[in-house]
Amino acid sequence: MLVSIFNDVIGPVMRGPSSSHCAAALRIGRLARDLMGADFQEVLVEFDRQGSLPTTHESQGSDMGLFGGLLGWDAADERLPGSPQALRDMGVSIRIETVDTGDEHPNTYRLTLRNLHGEQHTVIAISTGGGMMEVINLDGFAVSLFGDYHETLMSVIGNGADLLKRLTALDGVDEVLLHEHCGKQLVEVKAAHFLSDETIAELRKVCPILSVKRLARVLPIASRKDTRVPFTTCEEMLAYDAARNIPLWKLAAEYEMTRGNLTEAEVIAKMVDIVRILRRSIQQGIAGTQYDDRVLGHQSGKFNELMQAGRLLNGGVLNRIVLYVTALMEVKSSMGVIVAAPTAGACAALPGAVIAMAEEMKLSEEAMAKAMLASGLIGAFIATRWTFAAEVGGCQAEGGSAAAMAAAALVTLADGNLQQAVAAASMAFQSMLGLICDPVANRVEVPCLGKNVLAASNAVSCANMALADYDPVIPFDEVIQTAQRVAAQMPRELRCTALGGLSITKTSLAIEAKLTAKKEAACGAPACGCTR
Ligand code: SF4
Repeated sequence: MLVSIFNDVIGPVMRGPSSSHCAAALRIGRLARDLMGADFQEVLVEFDRQGSLPTTHESQGSDMGLFGGLLGWDAADERLPGSPQALRDMGVSIRIETVDTGDEHPNTYRLTLRNLHGEQHTVIAISTGGGMMEVINLDGFAVSLFGDYHETLMSVIGNGADLLKRLTALDGVDEVLLHEHCGKQLVEVKAAHFLSDETIAELRKVCPILSVKRLARVLPIASRKDTRVPFTTCEEMLAYDAARNIPLWKLAAEYEMTRGNLTEAEVIAKMVDIVRILRRSIQQGIAGTQYDDRVLGHQSGKFNELMQAGRLLNGGVLNRIVLYVTALMEVKSSMGVIVAAPTAGACAALPGAVIAMAEEMKLSEEAMAKAMLASGLIGAFIATRWTFAAEVGGCQAEGGSAAAMAAAALVTLADGNLQQAVAAASMAFQSMLGLICDPVANRVEVPCLGKNVLAASNAVSCANMALADYDPVIPFDEVIQTAQRVAAQMPRELRCTALGGLSITKTSLAIEAKLTAKKEAACGAPACGCTR
């Protein structure tokens, strides 16, 4: 699937500590719910022992997201923290088990759902970072579903090829696929709309269809048959620009207009909406947030007081950036609404830097949106070739990407040229290579706050260096390739498993034990929401 800035990079608008856990799991849950027609009483969730989820699914929000999705909720639904209980209250039994399946991807979800009528379905899906996911297996059929289409699935025996021919000829159908498994056939129809009951009734007259399932699109930007983008790498973008020096934000708008079939005004308006959500969240964070299950309390309030009173060291605009980054991280950790940009763990560096800097420069929300768009294109290059998932790439995938994106955005705010924006991204990413992911107490707070501040500060420095025409030496695409290579050399313990780094210090383990005990005492059940 071609990357979309609004699908894969700046978004989803969500609640929860981690987009690769909460938002992606929620999307997987929504698709699984649709597969069952919202009728299920038993859920079995299995995680591979060697993956990242056995140690992180509860504390980093996979359970909350997955169960919210099974309930049909939205990623920003305020009821999400209570989703395990809500599912139990509906009489659904949930089992979460660690198994030895040797799954290739560290974020693999294996779901088995059953209802009282004996219907059972299985789903295997992977969370690929920043809230994106891919369903790779349905009921034993190898598939590839990203949630970018309305999918009509028809189970047939022996007549799949005939059905495929008839469906391919239908107007409004983007793609028809025939999957085979153990003598059974599954016909998958990808389209902007579900096949209607009338169409299916017509098909049934000539082709026996055993069952029909409809899985609704879960991504904001739909794909379509002729989906294309003008470029997929930084090098291709520079060739497309052909020394015309088109501003990076405009190239980003062109990219998303082609990808999402949108006008430039629609692209900008969508990003202005996101900027408004972020500005509200910043104010909410500074005003104070409360949530029991977190490591850090409200720190941005005092920082703001001291900053207003002139009692902090003179960091210039950096102090406001630190304030905004902290506020956004506090909102995230208290299950408030944030935007994964590019992920929930690294949700604060980019918007904190852009909004604080733009406010200092007295720029409009539209200028902020254009800077965010520029950052979105840098993120699209990363997402196309690599990942934002810390489980794959460590914090260089989250914080590193955020720093590169923020640096390009800041150059855009300063009216820097295209070469400078790309140079800033390259320099910022270079200095984040090798960053490990080791969340304290298995919560996405410490050292995540510091890493977001580091990414934003690094971005300011690199933006200024780029504006002064510093030479990044290594092209941005090569830095992405390097991050990927470095990730392959990083041990699993340092890639968001909470099995290494600061996660296993005496203090971290003690905080985790205390938070778990507190949570279990409060809800009177295992904190993971299991009923075993
Ligand atoms: S250390 Fe970085 S990658 Fe890991 S959870 Fe924190 S912000 Fe995300």
